Amino acid sequence: MEIVVIGGGYAGLRVVQSLAARNLQVTLIEPRPEHVLRPRLVAAAAQRMALRDVSLPFGRLLPANVRHLRASAIRFDPDTIEVETDQEAIRADRLVLAMGAESNPTIPGVERHGLPLYSLEDLEQVLGSWSRLEEDFKRDRCESESLRWVIVGGGMTGVALAAELVHLARRWRKRYGSLAETIQIHLVQRSERLLPGWSVEVSDWVTRWLIRHRVIVQLNTQVRRARPDLLVLSGPDGATELATQTFFWAGGTRPVRLEEEPEGLRTPEGFMQVDSFCRLIEHPRTYAVGDIIQPFNPRTQQSFAPNTQLAVRAAEAVALNLVAESQGRAPIPFTPSDERVAFSLGAFDGIALVDGQELVGTPGWTAAQAADLLYVNSVQASLLIGRFAPELATLPQALLEAGREDEQS
Ligand SMILES: Cc1cc2nc3c(=O)[nH]c(=O)nc-3n(C[C@H](O)[C@H](O)[C@H](O)COP(=O)(O)OP(=O)(O)OC[C@H]3O[C@@H](n4cnc5c(N)ncnc54)[C@H](O)[C@@H]3O)c2cc1C
Repeated sequence: MEIVVIGGGYAGLRVVQSLAARNLQVTLIEPRPEHVLRPRLVAAAAQRMALRDVSLPFGRLLPANVRHLRASAIRFDPDTIEVETDQEAIRADRLVLAMGAESNPTIPGVERHGLPLYSLEDLEQVLGSWSRLEEDFKRDRCESESLRWVIVGGGMTGVALAAELVHLARRWRKRYGSLAETIQIHLVQRSERLLPGWSVEVSDWVTRWLIRHRVIVQLNTQVRRARPDLLVLSGPDGATELATQTFFWAGGTRPVRLEEEPEGLRTPEGFMQVDSFCRLIEHPRTYAVGDIIQPFNPRTQQSFAPNTQLAVRAAEAVALNLVAESQGRAPIPFTPSDERVAFSLGAFDGIALVDGQELVGTPGWTAAQAADLLYVNSVQASLLIGRFAPELATLPQALLEAGREDEQS
């Protein structure tokens, strides 16, 4: 059975590695030469991590039996499994869609004047603006608008970025003295609390953490328009203006859509509609995983917020079912859960949900670091194990299968 995977992010890479370990024929369509570790973008944007540590070259991750087609997918047929790219067309037996999400600048002026943080190119843009600011510090000639940093969006990315900028501001105050003393960090959130997907306790803890670290948290406040040096806001005090030359857009993402797609595959919000096996409804030869689907969480009665653990777990389930299909066995449904989610809040704190237990502060940070390191080690180990001990390559898969069979019985 030949399988094509579109997108080599957290979900796509895991599908590819799992299938390759089972000697299934896989083609990965991914234009980038490197796998981007998105959670690390935030620390790198605050100069706490080097740019080179935010990605891993696919050459170190993909076994020899995987074909990496460096191309962008343009269209696909979910039934005949024909995929057209900007390089060549491909035909296979099964398709896995794993294109992830992208920044969604919905407010006038945001696309032009805001800094998103989703790709390596976004990160380079942020680092470029910091270098210019540091030059100004050295020449002692900063304008106040460039010392006010505004983050729009109080979800996980916005909060994590605000926390990292706290550290950056602290370092610059030490390094550049009085001018940097006037750095202000604003976090603007349209709803009445930060982190709507988390419990009120965690959200309150995070809000207090930010305020204690001098972040100005503006709740119930919406950005109406972005101008070159100004944001127009509407909030509890009516319409106001916030002068800034540096504002980050963390106000929302949207699932990636290819240039041409058949009608009727997506929800009104743009997510792929899938069944309990992550297969497109009425198109069972095509699967979708990662941020382009939005599983529902029966515990909170809301959709899951996108996260790496969910993307990887769905990818593992899909890989197992593709193996099952290739061996003529019945697939097993995927049960999404938020057993493990973790985010860092700067260099020492974090929040996490581990097996239903919420962790804040140092334990939350430890969970986030552990999740990051385990992930990076596991994707690198996959290739090494395949090279040095091929008999072990299918072991994690076999353990997973056994675990899932236990779950079922
Ligand atoms: C700044 C930031 C910080 C985050 N921090 C955390 C965190 O701390 N913890 C956490 O759990 N989650 C975090 N997340 C969320 C997490 O990164 C995502 O949930 C995860 O990356 C989703 O995996 P994915 O495979 O669906 O998409 P991605 O990892 O985004 O991968 C999608 C891939 O598809 C490729 N692609 C797109 N279009 C095409 C096309 N047309 N053809 C071929 N390939 C294509 C892209 O190049 C990309 O490689 C963060 C996200 C961001 C943006």
